[in-house]
Amino acid sequence: MHVSVLASGSKGNSIFVEINNTLILVDAGISARRITNSLSDIGVDIRDIEGIVVTHEHRDHVSGLVTLCKKYGLPVYSRLATFKSMYCIDKLPLECLHPIKEKFAIGNLAVEAFNISHDAADPVGYSIKGRQQKCTVATDLGFVTSNVQEAIDNSDVLVLEANHDIDMLKNGDYPLALKRRIMGKQGHLSNSDAAWALVRMKKQHSYVFLAHMSEENNRPDIAKKTITDIMWQQGIKLGEDIDIKMAKQDEIVTMSADKKSS
Ligand SMILES: [Zn+2]
Ligand SMILES: [Zn+2]
Repeated sequence: MHVSVLASGSKGNSIFVEINNTLILVDAGISARRITNSLSDIGVDIRDIEGIVVTHEHRDHVSGLVTLCKKYGLPVYSRLATFKSMYCIDKLPLECLHPIKEKFAIGNLAVEAFNISHDAADPVGYSIKGRQQKCTVATDLGFVTSNVQEAIDNSDVLVLEANHDIDMLKNGDYPLALKRRIMGKQGHLSNSDAAWALVRMKKQHSYVFLAHMSEENNRPDIAKKTITDIMWQQGIKLGEDIDIKMAKQDEIVTMSADKKSS
């Protein structure tokens, strides 16, 4: 399994996932040109991508879709309400749109969409399963519901939101309404909430990307310290139980998790 976060944050999100020789993207919220170039930087041809799964309709998750669909005819999978709410829906070729329910297949992968709490039409996270391995993406969520907690269990690779430090957000310059939106049940996940989700996660060992980090209300060192402190207090060992990397807005970050065949 190879997972590369091509971009992560409020300016655009896209994640490349390869398991059992099937290549997909989760979200396409940066330009098609940047996605194509980032893929070629990691040795992947955009023409080998078998589908794009979209979490929700916010622009930072869909802005590259139109060009990718028109130019390469890539199939896009998402909830019907999400398609209907996309600002670019009129420009997307109909034959590329695949409305989903909970479970569907792309190539060799079994994909499961799970509901998340966020201020969008019908937002989801995804568990992407190969024969032996599982990658889960859970970003843009106000809090970790029990079904999200269940979905992230047993993930070999997990892309989890760690959006803000609560004190930085509270004391920062954002208008009160925006602070309330971010902190609300349909907003974004704080560092400490991400930490507790990791503490509760059932798994022998996981590679975790901390993602969708706010540039205004978070710092990589603060996120990492908050999360490692809570995990350490709960007896979870970094490097042994969990490996953590910070996803970035403007840089590709990669993890490979290879399963030794038993
Ligand atoms: Zn977002
Ligand atoms: Zn969003």
